[in-house]
Amino acid sequence: MSGYRPDERAVRRDLAAAYRLVALDGMDDGISTHISARLSDGRFLLNALGLRFDEVREDNLVTVNAAGEVLDDPTGLGINPAGFTIHSALHAARPEVECVLHTHTVAGVALSCLEEGLLPLNQWALQFHDRLAYHDYEGIALDLDERERLAVDLGPHQAMILRQHGLLTCGRSVGEAFLVMRDLERSCQAQLAAQATGRPLRLASPEMAEHVARQYEAWADSPAGIDRAWQAERRRLVDRSSDLQAS
Ligand SMILES: [Zn+2]
Repeated sequence: MSGYRPDERAVRRDLAAAYRLVALDGMDDGISTHISARLSDGRFLLNALGLRFDEVREDNLVTVNAAGEVLDDPTGLGINPAGFTIHSALHAARPEVECVLHTHTVAGVALSCLEEGLLPLNQWALQFHDRLAYHDYEGIALDLDERERLAVDLGPHQAMILRQHGLLTCGRSVGEAFLVMRDLERSCQAQLAAQATGRPLRLASPEMAEHVARQYEAWADSPAGIDRAWQAERRRLVDRSSDLQAS
């Protein structure tokens, strides 16, 4: 890590932590899906094709340019071109987005199969009121034409349901993309659990949903918001490695 500029070191640290936390939380899918991060000079970092998320470290990330051409690959494994098709489209359309995180979880995929999508059922879900995009399934994303449609569908939002496929979040930082994804994942789990009871569902009013969404937005930028929550998440990894050393 010593050969990198301080700003790149910080992005590498956060991105590697996000991969490992996604694995720790069971949101990974073997060697599929990606978390990408943009560096300040326009290069991108993402996982080598073939590593599990728990194997990703600061110094085994692959560096690519905006066209997906590999610039540096310590593993020699290359990247998944379909994965970068999705991510590069969204990074190009949204310059303020540092990180794009995509998952295939059972709850996320199941929710993506529901015609009604995410319902305003619980506090986690209300933050996505009028702030959640949907993208229709077009097969495995090898077609470069899909890039434009992905960007149009995402619009100004931080989160998108990829129908019949999975979930996607964007963040102004790696930590924001991770925290929004975890809330989206829990929103899906809670909705599916509520629907599985077969009991009548109580939906929040649009006014309440908008109120809560604005509260989440204010929290994200507050001193005790995203930054502090992400630091707390990163400590889960530190704590676990010291546990291992002690045993
Ligand atoms: Zn996918």
